[in-house]
Amino acid sequence: MTRTISLLGATGSIGASTLDLIRHNRADWQVEALTANCSASALAQLAREFDARIAVVGDESCLPELRAALEGTDIEAAGGSAALCEAAARPVDMTVAAIVGCAGLAPTMAAVEAGGTIALANKEALVSAGDILKSAIERAGASLLPTDSEHNAIFQCLAGNKVREVRRIILTASGGPFRTLSADQLKSVTREQALKHPNWDMGAKITIDSATMMNKGLEFIEAHHLFPVGLENIDILVHPQSIIHSMVEYRDRSVLAQLGPSDMRVPIASCLAYPERMETPLTPLDLAMIGELTFEAPNEELFPATRIAREAIEAGGAAPAVLNAANEIAVEAFLNERIGFTRITAVAESVLARYMPSQPATMEDVLAIDAEARDHARAVLEIPTLV
Ligand code: NDP
Repeated sequence: MTRTISLLGATGSIGASTLDLIRHNRADWQVEALTANCSASALAQLAREFDARIAVVGDESCLPELRAALEGTDIEAAGGSAALCEAAARPVDMTVAAIVGCAGLAPTMAAVEAGGTIALANKEALVSAGDILKSAIERAGASLLPTDSEHNAIFQCLAGNKVREVRRIILTASGGPFRTLSADQLKSVTREQALKHPNWDMGAKITIDSATMMNKGLEFIEAHHLFPVGLENIDILVHPQSIIHSMVEYRDRSVLAQLGPSDMRVPIASCLAYPERMETPLTPLDLAMIGELTFEAPNEELFPATRIAREAIEAGGAAPAVLNAANEIAVEAFLNERIGFTRITAVAESVLARYMPSQPATMEDVLAIDAEARDHARAVLEIPTLV
């Protein structure tokens, strides 16, 4: 039976992986909405290929380009943040939420409020507005399927078991490309070096987050929201080969792990087909060829991001949203070569330290706090003596 799907963030890395799976299973899917920020011609090309009903750019100034690129088709074109949310709210069987950053929060919320099934890759939405998003899911009767590879692995390891039987969640981390460097060497890491992840091919922001380990910090918060086992029962373990995508330890000390190639098409396929399984065009995992799987404790002296994220979720309220916003601004500054690598985490920590406790009650509260934290982060960027 054909199912309907909308893809928020279609022109990104998760978007490409999702569309590749759909390409290999065309008869199973009717594409409703495809969205981007401003990659209008790439979006139009995808909308044409997948015969989407509507294509939307978040940045309204890119709408004329989108319209021109869709001329001669009956694909609707729209632009702006309201249009993005309207498209996300269209009733579909599955929404893949793959916009990067807190910019994905409002469209993801719109999909949630429409009561559908959401495959969530956009971790920043859950980090910034975890409790609010979860209440909305409950209210709307929506379902969330974790798409981030670690959380998808945990979800798979939990299948058929009860969360109350869980003793510990073990979130694995590759450790990024710089895990063996010294503190001094880290200071001179370049943008090009940081954009080369050893195992995964991803968008720029998450690749930098992986190098600083902030990605694992955000994932720690994400795991806390998705799997309520208690913060003290979520551990991070460095596993440089990225073959085990995470593990769950039960009360009887039995540990279940999910393994697979380092390719996001695996967790995305698990969401698209859930609760069934589907074919993927991937080569099977060859453990004999990989040879060994190794593990080490994270080095929080060198990579403090996981400690900072833990402190943010322990502080609660808007602290995770503040951390996320500050990190987004710092990563952007690093990508624009305005600051060095180690200043990314320092800026995020500095903004978080100035945070005055507050309890956001609505998504609008979170978005206001997010905007304020971005302003703080921009001000902190002007302090050259910070690290
Ligand atoms: P990319 O940067 O590759 O793609 C981001 C997508 O979001 C693009 O379609 C982009 O459009 C769109 N976008 C960016 N900013 C806005 C905005 N302000 N409004 C509307 N749309 C916007 O990111 P990834 O695919 O790597 O990551 C997407 C999400 O998935 C992130 O939250 C990431 O943490 C998560 N994730 C990614 C993984 C991966 O392997 N890539 C793994 C696990 C999680 P445009 O092209 O026009 O800029």
